[in-house]
Amino acid sequence: MSYSRYVSKIDPENTGMFFKIKKVGDSFIHTCCEGELLYQLGLVPNDVAGKEIHDFFPLDLAKAKIDFYEKAWAGEFLQYETLFNDVCYLTTLRPIFLQGIVVELIGTAINISDKKSKEEELRHKQLLYHSVVTNMTEAIFILEKGGKITVLNENVEKLTGITTGTYNGTTAAQFGIEFFNEDGSKMSYKDWPGFVTIDTGKPCHNVIARIQRNEKTRWFRLNSNPLNISGDTAALVSFFEITIEKEQEIQLRESYAFQKTLLDNLESGIIATDHEGKITLINQKVHQMFALEEDIEFYIGKNAKQFYGLWQEKTNTTSMMPDSIPIEERTQITKEIDTTSGYTFETSYIPFNIEDRFSGNIFEFTDITDRKKMERALIRAKEEAERANKAKSEFLAKMSHELRTPLSSVLGFAQLLEMDRSLNIEQLDSVQEIITGGRHLLHLIDEVLDLSRIDSGKIKMELSIIEFSNILNDCIKSIQPLAISKNISVKKHLDGCRKVFVKADPTRLKQVILNLLCNAIKYNRMNGEVLVSVHLHADRLEVHIKDTGIGIPKDEYQNIFQPFYRINGTGEQGAGIGLPLVEQLMRLMDGNVGVSSVLGEGSDFWFELKIEAIAELDGKSGVEHTETQLTNRELKRVLYIEDTESNIYLMKRVFNLEPGYTLIVARNAQEGLELANTEKIDIILLDLNLPDMSGEETFTLLKKNKIVADVPIIALSADARPSEVKRLVQKGFTHYLTKPLDIAELLQLLNKLQPVY
Ligand code: ADP
Repeated sequence: MSYSRYVSKIDPENTGMFFKIKKVGDSFIHTCCEGELLYQLGLVPNDVAGKEIHDFFPLDLAKAKIDFYEKAWAGEFLQYETLFNDVCYLTTLRPIFLQGIVVELIGTAINISDKKSKEEELRHKQLLYHSVVTNMTEAIFILEKGGKITVLNENVEKLTGITTGTYNGTTAAQFGIEFFNEDGSKMSYKDWPGFVTIDTGKPCHNVIARIQRNEKTRWFRLNSNPLNISGDTAALVSFFEITIEKEQEIQLRESYAFQKTLLDNLESGIIATDHEGKITLINQKVHQMFALEEDIEFYIGKNAKQFYGLWQEKTNTTSMMPDSIPIEERTQITKEIDTTSGYTFETSYIPFNIEDRFSGNIFEFTDITDRKKMERALIRAKEEAERANKAKSEFLAKMSHELRTPLSSVLGFAQLLEMDRSLNIEQLDSVQEIITGGRHLLHLIDEVLDLSRIDSGKIKMELSIIEFSNILNDCIKSIQPLAISKNISVKKHLDGCRKVFVKADPTRLKQVILNLLCNAIKYNRMNGEVLVSVHLHADRLEVHIKDTGIGIPKDEYQNIFQPFYRINGTGEQGAGIGLPLVEQLMRLMDGNVGVSSVLGEGSDFWFELKIEAIAELDGKSGVEHTETQLTNRELKRVLYIEDTESNIYLMKRVFNLEPGYTLIVARNAQEGLELANTEKIDIILLDLNLPDMSGEETFTLLKKNKIVADVPIIALSADARPSEVKRLVQKGFTHYLTKPLDIAELLQLLNKLQPVY
């Protein structure tokens, strides 16, 4: 350590301090002290001159200085630093020799406070850098030409296993480490970002690479920056792991690819938009359905509005275009649309929400053009079938009606003949055959008419609450003669203690029961049996009509309820109308009908109706019938207002045989009204279907006429509906007789009526 070396380092601007020391005895006395630094220390020359060190410095500091002074007095050349009053200064202490003996010490000092703080700063920075490098999440190393790696933090080894050393393609492979590009291709070691920087001198930013080591794959994002080391270009390489993000990205990409494949292969077209209506997705099907001209990608990001023109909504009650609906009111809407190219699509609009926040729109399109065509064809076919069926029903109705009029004559005259006492037994038998056949024919015609009325929806049910057993008993009573003719016993099993009330049309219910009872007798064997049983369930009544007849094959159960269907080979006559009528009537009365059967053993037909009420048998009917007893009088004068000649002829024949009556005939309403004025009339028989005036109008005019106002008027009509009968009786008709007339019933009635004088 030479004196000159230190002096040269003294800053010329740094005005220092100079002092001298002599040793007196054991004490070191400062003989003089001068310089700017002295004042910077907070002292003046007089504080120091002639004083020992502990006179102006604190003791501990003074003690350390004394050591230096001793060493210098011993001949040593010294330099030391002192910190006093926040000033750091460097002292150089030199012994002065005289004849080889130290006679004085000369000290010079300079302020080094600035230099000191810079050194401190540098040291601090180094510490900071070190701590940053060690604590950073990135791994960092220096790569030099030739593959020398200097690892700067432990993350490098932690993430890759690489330690400080020299690496190249071979050693890296031996080390078991392989690099791959993002696209999966192998990355040669020359392409490592560090080597690229060394070769080109340029940085590489955000290179994504996959590193495989010991069959473990990790993804990294790397950066490398050029670094100058002793004139050579090296690279400072940093990297961090992105395996989780990358795997998520791969998963996302895979799931997107999966969804896209799925969407593209859907039978429906899908368009999705973001919350602003910009298209985010279109599948292949939409492209095809709307015959779009551009590639799918062209439409991504465009506003979905441009599609609105490609279709037309069939109804515009609620437009499915989301723009016209406030976001909070958007709900799923499904509609049919017609496209400009002539297709029909079923379109659903689905608002797309994420966590209750509106995030976009989804439109789904299904091509229903073919289905629509088929539906239209089906509707046409159905309408055609309905038209044909209606025509058939109308034909049947017309035919039946036409048949009824001549049949009325046949039955009327046959009954007249039956009354002729001059007929012998054989002739009477023949007449009765005519009557039986006629009645059967009439029954058939009525059923055909009923069926066609049901078909055309013209049948009217007269529903009322009725007591069931009354109806059933009436029916059983009326089929007795038929049962007796085949020696079949009809047994019934009813709940004897209770009366059951059901809601039904009494005439129609009778028709149902009679049909089933007649079949049970007709398709039974001689000496067979019919069992009628009634079962009460919670809310319905179930009636079984069981026979011991030929039975029905299972595969015919459905067919026999089809109009005009008959099972071959039963050996019985029939038209196949009864059961379909039974089924339709039950349906109209909210009931059901069915059958089960064992071939060769018998059939069990059942029907059920809803129970309205149940009462104990003791209850007495509140309805009382009062009949006015009319006394007979001689020669009743009957005015018959009728336009059908055969009916007039029949009536004349009847009255010819009845000596107590005079028949006066009017062939239209007008004539009838006139005769009422001119003739003395006891009873009026009024046909309701007159050519010049309706029967009811005629009735009103007759009633207005004081002369005949009190004369009993009997209505004659083919309309047998109870409601019609009731209505006309309420209107004032004394009685109502249905055509074809039952002559015995007519004569009985006339006999009861007393003329009014
Ligand atoms: P029809 O008796 O006039 O033929 P229906 O409509 O009443 O017409 O009956 C249809 C067919 O069902 C009958 O032709 C007969 O073959 C069968 N059928 C109906 N009732 C019975 C029964 N009680 N036993 C056996 N067969 C029956």
